[in-house]
Amino acid sequence: MTDQYKISLAAGDTSFPCEEGDTLLRASLRQGLGLAYECNVGACGSCKFDLLEGEVADLFPEAPGLRPKEREKGKRLACQCVPLSNCTIKIRSGPEYVSTIRPARINARCSSRLAVTPDMAIFSFATDLPTEFLAGQYAMLSIPGVGQTRAYSMSNLPNQDGNWEFIIRRVPEGKVSSFLFDTLEVGDEISIDGPYGIAYLRQDAPRRIVGIAGGSGLAPVLSIMRASAGLPNTHGMPVMLFGGRTPRDIPDVAKLMEGSGAGIVFNPIISAPDADAATAWTGDTGFVHEFIESRLAGPLADNEYYLAGPPPMIESVVRLLVSDHKVPANQIHFDRFF
Ligand SMILES: Cc1cc2nc3c(=O)[nH]c(=O)nc-3n(C[C@H](O)[C@H](O)[C@H](O)COP(=O)(O)OP(=O)(O)OC[C@H]3O[C@@H](n4cnc5c(N)ncnc54)[C@H](O)[C@@H]3O)c2cc1C
Repeated sequence: MTDQYKISLAAGDTSFPCEEGDTLLRASLRQGLGLAYECNVGACGSCKFDLLEGEVADLFPEAPGLRPKEREKGKRLACQCVPLSNCTIKIRSGPEYVSTIRPARINARCSSRLAVTPDMAIFSFATDLPTEFLAGQYAMLSIPGVGQTRAYSMSNLPNQDGNWEFIIRRVPEGKVSSFLFDTLEVGDEISIDGPYGIAYLRQDAPRRIVGIAGGSGLAPVLSIMRASAGLPNTHGMPVMLFGGRTPRDIPDVAKLMEGSGAGIVFNPIISAPDADAATAWTGDTGFVHEFIESRLAGPLADNEYYLAGPPPMIESVVRLLVSDHKVPANQIHFDRFF
């Protein structure tokens, strides 16, 4: 049996149990608390905290989410710390971080793999329980033998069949993505821990849905586009702007949307047409944020935005929307893919 530690929050009289080996962040979310976070992989810094009492082990001491000065002051990341005793911590929290569906760990078997582009594939996993998440969320995948955990967004929809789908991009030399592409076979077991993430579809937002994705950011935005099928389409057809480097990076989104019942406008954009001169391209060329104004009719503040992809893409889009077009920040939802 694993030990359980009591983690107390400095503010108020709240505490939560944390099993040995679980991170402070994930244990708190499992208990329905709302500790601040975004990426869950040590990169964004949203879950930094002060350890007031007790002892923790840091799983990723060189995590980029903390500046050296912050480390010197004793700051730590709740997504990378596991307790070694009862602890008291001081950390930011808020109702927006509370999980509607509490994250849980389940075993899953790889059931299929299907290429989407030369370096992206849909990996499907079967589990014995219904698959519960909100469109746009992600899960933490751990593969026995690799010893590392990574975040991947679900590209399908919640379902009773226990089916989880992820669109994963092969990262050159990447530990986990290389293992998934080169070694994982159909029938192999992994562990899925989720759902996590706050960039999920706001079903009651009275605005047109706009998804903006780059690279493997396709997965959560595709899930959101699929989920739009069940919503009243009174604010205009959902729009998806997708950025890749070359024509080969553009997925067949019409095919991926088949059977979802959702109609969307898909606008691909490539940034390096010369890198693949062999494939003809007559579409938009440039960076995704450069096409937002021209491709979306009407005031930009009239839309609800869901962004997923590399941090520089997200930063350019958020700057354009918030600074130049005064789109309220609470209409923009994103997970940066570190
Ligand atoms: C919220 C979120 C959603 C994502 N969704 C997707 C998706 O849908 N599809 C997709 O293809 N990719 C997605 N990613 C990126 C994905 O999680 C991986 O970063 C990517 O696959 C590269 O992993 P790798 O192991 O192959 O590469 P590596 O270069 O081996 O690892 C890079 C990642 O691992 C972290 N890392 C490195 N060392 C450690 C360590 N010691 N302990 C803990 N973490 C460490 C880094 O901070 C970085 O995030 C997402 C990322 C985030 C944050």
